[in-house]
Amino acid sequence: LQANIDKLQGYLARFRDSGVLNRIDGEDRPAQGGATFENHSPVDETRICSVANSGAADIDAAAQAAKAALPAWRDMDPNERKKILHKIADGIVARAEEIALCECWDTGQALRFMSKAALRGAANFRFFADRAPSARDGQHLPSATLMNITTRVPIGPIGVITPWNTPFMLSTWKIAPALAAGCTVVHKPAEFSPVTARILMEIAEEAGLPPGVWNLVNGFGEDAGKALTEHPDIKAIAFVGESKTGSMIMKQGADTLKRVHFELGGKNPVIVFDDADLDRALDAAIFMIYSLNGERCTSSSRLLVQSTIAEEFTAKLIERVNRIRVGHPLDPTTEIGPLIHQTHFAKVCSYFDIAKSDGATIAAGGEALDQPGYYVRPTLFTGATNDMRIAQEEIFGPVLTAIPFDTEEEALTIANGVAYGLTGYVWTNDLTRALRFTDKLEAGMIWVNSENVRHLPTPFGGVKASGIGRDGGDWSFEFYMEQKHIGLAT
Ligand code: NAD
Repeated sequence: LQANIDKLQGYLARFRDSGVLNRIDGEDRPAQGGATFENHSPVDETRICSVANSGAADIDAAAQAAKAALPAWRDMDPNERKKILHKIADGIVARAEEIALCECWDTGQALRFMSKAALRGAANFRFFADRAPSARDGQHLPSATLMNITTRVPIGPIGVITPWNTPFMLSTWKIAPALAAGCTVVHKPAEFSPVTARILMEIAEEAGLPPGVWNLVNGFGEDAGKALTEHPDIKAIAFVGESKTGSMIMKQGADTLKRVHFELGGKNPVIVFDDADLDRALDAAIFMIYSLNGERCTSSSRLLVQSTIAEEFTAKLIERVNRIRVGHPLDPTTEIGPLIHQTHFAKVCSYFDIAKSDGATIAAGGEALDQPGYYVRPTLFTGATNDMRIAQEEIFGPVLTAIPFDTEEEALTIANGVAYGLTGYVWTNDLTRALRFTDKLEAGMIWVNSENVRHLPTPFGGVKASGIGRDGGDWSFEFYMEQKHIGLAT
């Protein structure tokens, strides 16, 4: 632990002195008027650094830079773009430790999970780098009188708005395909976790990304974020965050007819039938809610367990939950670190009382740790019914709500009986049932007898209040590019 803290202090020293500035057109820029806000660590509430507090003028400067840089980047030989994106991936790998330590300190995520996030970021760049040369590929659809050709062109400057949970990885997930498609970018990272977005930007420039192709503007959602969604030169918004923010962005972008891509909240079910491999189901259920502090859009925050095995399964679960190690995020043995900030901590803690007043049982956890930092114990609610708030609302912490069911039909009704539809996890050894059930389950992504394993060519996204659009594979290019039809008379 101490060795990690010492290294972190070295990495953070420069931010402490100069703060996190915007980076526009290849230059460091303070926010207009020198406005800043203070960024604190959720670990012990100490100050990390000041951050540029940007507004509409800063967004305008970044959008102008992205617009000016578009033609050269769009028209560059895509094999050159591919090389630069691979170099960015190399740079991420070279600075993976710095990224991981800074992100843990900035967000409270445990190092054991975060050490992989940087490498996943590098993998995102490599995946889309390799696809850059084929991004414009189209089709030839001849008729009797026309040579019909379709092609794709980058849509233009993109506004990327990211949240504070795994902020580094999620930024790469949006920015890599946008750049591979030939778009330029203005990125507004979450105000609560600005440090690694700045490191990522530096890596990109060191890799040879031309000035203005990628611009970084820090600030709050209601100022910088809102201005980005309203800017006429920004052609599309790639947004990851809460469902209600997505709804606001849609309204804000209406006047300029923004194309939007939304990855939003979830209340994802893990459904365990009594014929499943229960040991594996238990491991996966625990991993999918108690890793990454439960601050994870794809977390399985509802456990639907068949009544015949509910008692046995829940008893094992309680025993395992009580053994989860809560602690300093830079301690390699820690499984759960502090939650991101005071307001979110208060929100998560409020559900302990809500559960009690709704009539559920707190079978494990259900309290904050009595120490500085935003630490809560991993929590399990049992005896819940689907109408309770703990079964309906995204708590976004290490909190699992267990709901028993008798029949497959009942499980489906409960699983689909929420506003969200991001992921679902089904555990059964009956293949016919798995097919029948997944066909009716309202979710954008479903895993059967598996935890969430991301495979980059597959579509990622949600239905209902969990999102609009898909990322991954060619789906990303569908968002960042326009289809164009050309009919030539023959
Ligand atoms: P949030 O919606 O509060 O903020 C996300 C980003 O939006 C931040 O950068 C914020 O500054 C900005 N923002 C806020 N108001 C804005 C406005 N009016 N206009 C423009 N930008 C605005 O979300 P959060 O609390 O940072 O993140 C947690 C949420 O993100 C959870 O709901 C989680 O499920 C969701 N999430 C979804 C996915 C997914 O893939 N579906 C992935 C990660 C997180």
